[in-house]
Amino acid sequence: MLRIPVRQNVRKFSINGSTVKCNRLNGKIAIVTASTEGIGFAIAKRLAEEGARVMISSRKESNVKKAVEKLKSEGLEVSGVICHVGKKEDRKVLFEQTKKEFGGLDILVSNAGVNPSVGSLFDTSEEIWDKIFDINVKSSFLLMQESLPLLRLSKSPSMILISSISAYQPITLLGTYAVSKTALLGLNNIAAATLASEGIRVNCIAPGVIKTKFSQTIVEGAIGEATLSTVPMQKFGEPNDVAGVAAFLASDDAAYITGETIVPSGGMQSRL
Ligand code: NAP
Repeated sequence: MLRIPVRQNVRKFSINGSTVKCNRLNGKIAIVTASTEGIGFAIAKRLAEEGARVMISSRKESNVKKAVEKLKSEGLEVSGVICHVGKKEDRKVLFEQTKKEFGGLDILVSNAGVNPSVGSLFDTSEEIWDKIFDINVKSSFLLMQESLPLLRLSKSPSMILISSISAYQPITLLGTYAVSKTALLGLNNIAAATLASEGIRVNCIAPGVIKTKFSQTIVEGAIGEATLSTVPMQKFGEPNDVAGVAAFLASDDAAYITGETIVPSGGMQSRL
């Protein structure tokens, strides 16, 4: 496959006030789903800062445009496409456009996840159960399956799933969402074992409570105080705390790591 040539410049970026020069993802091509905001946006930005060319995507055209413009204005090599991960045609366009614009694929980050209702497990309607499992689990599986023709042509292919600390901790308010995130741990295990002999690495990140729109209801007010008391480091995480882990897992520094889950959670426990 013809790969579009890469600009080989060493970028500088800042992590917690320190300037970092790191181009360990130079030459790599990445897709990050749900990457116009929050954790996905931070991951896309960090992969691009470390040298990757990144396809940004989410459901809304205006969000895609805004995110792409922001990252391009920082000199990063990104492009964007609309992709609702639950729509087959959108996923097809996502892969086709990545191949057309960048010439291949090395890194798939399946980040989209939804939780339409905060509440107890047994208050979940069948419709909500299906929606959560369709987006969080089925779409991740389909994206992995559909990425294989491109990843099989890569010299250092890898997939990263975004689970959650709720996969481990029984946070009862997150009911069905938590069950779906535990299912991703199983998907990670089986996919990694299935693809290991082909050299395709599959890993997972299970973030703790990270400050984004998604987590607003559990980080603010009285619920927020209760949530914070469960975090040993006594602070909520930032999207960048997850982005650094994703960049490591996607890089050749993690070349001998597959089937693992890394838990950036400020010390919240991760035992099933
Ligand atoms: P967020 O800040 O609310 O961002 C949501 C992003 O997802 C937006 O870019 C949104 O853009 C996009 N999106 C939503 N539904 C989509 C769909 N069906 N297809 C494609 N894109 C979609 O959320 P976040 O906190 O970063 O969460 C990202 C992931 O991290 C999720 O899987 C979540 O479960 C996981 N996670 C979050 C936390 C946390 O505390 N924040 C903790 C553990 C795990 P559009 O509206 O344009 O589609």
